[in-house]
Amino acid sequence: MDKDIIAWWSGGASSAVACKLAIDLFGANRVRVIFQDTRNEDDDTYRFLKDCEKWYGIKIEIISSKEFNSIEEVWYKYLSLSVAGGAICSTKLKREVREQWEKENTWAHQVFGYDMKEAIKRAVPMTLNNPKLNAIYPLLLYGYFKKDCIKILDNAGIKVPEPYIKGYENNNCDKTGCTRGGIGYWQKRKREEYNKFYKMAMREHELTNLKGEPVTICKDQSNEAKKKGGYVPVFLLPHPDYPEVKDISMFKGREPEPLVECNGFCGLDDMDVYLEKKKRLNNNNEFNF
Ligand code: SF4
Repeated sequence: MDKDIIAWWSGGASSAVACKLAIDLFGANRVRVIFQDTRNEDDDTYRFLKDCEKWYGIKIEIISSKEFNSIEEVWYKYLSLSVAGGAICSTKLKREVREQWEKENTWAHQVFGYDMKEAIKRAVPMTLNNPKLNAIYPLLLYGYFKKDCIKILDNAGIKVPEPYIKGYENNNCDKTGCTRGGIGYWQKRKREEYNKFYKMAMREHELTNLKGEPVTICKDQSNEAKKKGGYVPVFLLPHPDYPEVKDISMFKGREPEPLVECNGFCGLDDMDVYLEKKKRLNNNNEFNF
């Protein structure tokens, strides 16, 4: 029988355990573990990948964009880092790579590493928005949270990737930092990894100069900004040509918020997207499963 179950391995602790559970549940002869490599991952991700391969007893297949060699190529082509609906890098380096792969391969089910905390917010809308995926959520079957996954890895003798050791809750594009990170995440990077932070701050300025309007990673999510409506950009470092735009030093220190694991399903595992579609179809906003 051809392998008919695809398990997405992202380099994070949750998806790593979800892939292992899928192999244990369905058998290594049915599961293909796939990693969408942005080529912008922390180097330790590749050590973690090798450790997981030994744990699983099967190879992890790596797929990457054929169009873009680096994440910077994407940002500069589209003059964009992060917008309200997601990030262009996730679309180009993950979503489109995944969609192409799905067309070229046969499969019946896809496995995702959403944990209990993400059950309602991510797993339910993922299934409602994408019924053809026949999604399987092994962590929900066992009632696991991310902390359980970290413990399971520890018990298996597998060290979590370096970004977790540095205090982040995800392993998302740590070479540059993730453009979906919020103000707290970037404040931490500024304090602890200034060189990398500075490079991103200068990329914001360059992209802004090329586009002729602020191109930023962070946005102001204060009540005051929400009242004004729309997208209120916030720079990593002040841009001399835009003194009216705030930078992250102007916000009280915040804890870095956990990032959504970047799996190329930006917006497709979003309850708001489902509700909006349902409202359009039914012309009412009553929510029924
Ligand atoms: S992890 Fe972050 S920076 Fe990397 S592709 Fe996804 S959104 Fe972009």
